[in-house]
Amino acid sequence: MTALVWLRHDLRVRDNPALFKAAELGQGVVAVYVHCDAYVHQHTIAPAQLDFVRRHLHIIIKDLAALNIPLLIIRVQKPAEVAPELLRLAQAVKAEYCYFNAEYPLNELNRDLAVNQLLRDHGILVKRCHDRCIVPPGMIRNGQGDPYKVFTAFKKKWLQTVMPVAMQPLAAPAKQVAPANLASASIDEIDQLFSGHELRDLSVFWPAGEDEAYRRLDRFIETSIARYQDQRDFPAIDGTSSLSPYFAIGSLSPRQAVAAVLAYTHGEWDGGDAGANCWLSELIWREFYQHVVVDYPQVCKRKAMQAHTEAFPWRYDKTLFAAWCEGKTGIPIIDAAMRQLNATGWMHNRLRMVVAMFLTKNCQIDWRWGEDYFMSQLIDGDFAANNGGWQWSASTGTDAAPYFRIFNPVSQSERFDPNGEFIRKWIPELAHLSNKQIHNPPALTNYPRPIVDLSASRKETIALFAQLPPIKH
Ligand SMILES: Cc1cc2nc3c(=O)[nH]c(=O)nc-3n(C[C@H](O)[C@H](O)[C@H](O)COP(=O)(O)OP(=O)(O)OC[C@H]3O[C@@H](n4cnc5c(N)ncnc54)[C@H](O)[C@@H]3O)c2cc1C
Repeated sequence: MTALVWLRHDLRVRDNPALFKAAELGQGVVAVYVHCDAYVHQHTIAPAQLDFVRRHLHIIIKDLAALNIPLLIIRVQKPAEVAPELLRLAQAVKAEYCYFNAEYPLNELNRDLAVNQLLRDHGILVKRCHDRCIVPPGMIRNGQGDPYKVFTAFKKKWLQTVMPVAMQPLAAPAKQVAPANLASASIDEIDQLFSGHELRDLSVFWPAGEDEAYRRLDRFIETSIARYQDQRDFPAIDGTSSLSPYFAIGSLSPRQAVAAVLAYTHGEWDGGDAGANCWLSELIWREFYQHVVVDYPQVCKRKAMQAHTEAFPWRYDKTLFAAWCEGKTGIPIIDAAMRQLNATGWMHNRLRMVVAMFLTKNCQIDWRWGEDYFMSQLIDGDFAANNGGWQWSASTGTDAAPYFRIFNPVSQSERFDPNGEFIRKWIPELAHLSNKQIHNPPALTNYPRPIVDLSASRKETIALFAQLPPIKH
């Protein structure tokens, strides 16, 4: 008898509850990774993220082999094939248990329910562990037992809930008794898993592996966390952790991150260290959006969190949208940010908000177009964080930016890239301009004029939002 561990967005050996608990049984463990072709298309998984997963599998297969845990792989075309294929494998390796870490968006939830049902029907016990959030969704409730709609209240309750808990990440599982006659997949077979999909190797920016994630975490805490609050909004400064790709595919867990913060603050939660408090807050934002997809499942069905905003007359102008995607809007900070995204698979948080507001509030383009484009490019693409960020920017979501507070991208640029350093890096054709001109250039032959009038479009958007039907409570 063995225990099967189904690895998904938790590609690490340390602090992996499903793997750890399966190994604790001491019966021998077999790990499996399932690749579903349709999932990649339906969820617009970026070629950069797909390749990041592939590179992680190359590493984890060796880490698991050192623990006598073979990693097998399955490829299916449709989500409906996942459960029968897992059952087939579980029966072939004589698994008594199947462990996995929970994933919360609706499609993933339904897939996991089907797996649970089928395996249980065949006498295999399914164990679903919580890993992706420190506090599992459903546990943070207000006095009436309802979920929070506002981040600050959620954060307060989250801190009250976790503060007494010692944050001790799990170790790697103990070495297992090797299951007889079972060989791991080969590196070639792993690569074959992704054949037919576009892959984008961004290892120059994003090396793979949980060791790399840990190295970045350590370096961030040693060198940057103290100044995080002051530096985090300036895209020309390397002031944030750049850990989001590792959280997204799970080569780093939120517990590992919070434990590192607590080691730095000597165990103080939300204490006197402004940098640590601020970074912890960002980790709680991450949790907040994971909870939102469970508490408000309509967001998983391409619906606005605030139903009344569905009446907004979004535009579907392909020319405007293409200019935004390609970084050719004529607004330097927007173009620099989009070029950063297209080149590196990542964008600075301040700029994600600025480009998303510009697309939705100045171009009035449906936030779902922006959400999809981000997912198609981001190496850190995460449904909950991305949807949450887009709905916040479009004023359709929980804790949304009030519709009348619209960022002016030129003012944001002057404030957060005062010397135009970030713009110069990504738009060399503007490098010769003065620090003042660079944010709002004069007519130039080699740079487009702005594709929208910022002031007129802002006024129009506010007027359109003001006409929406009232919110129903
Ligand atoms: C429109 C929009 C789309 C976004 N899409 C994604 C996405 O697909 N994937 C993603 O991981 N983040 C997304 N974010 C959130 C945020 O921009 C990134 O997490 C952050 O820029 C990653 O950089 P970092 O790791 O250096 O972050 P740090 O500043 O070091 O923060 C630490 C971690 O906290 C989490 N975090 C920080 N800010 C947020 C936030 N606002 N919401 C949720 N989690 C947060 C991330 O996991 C991040 O790695 C989006 C934000 C917006 C406005």
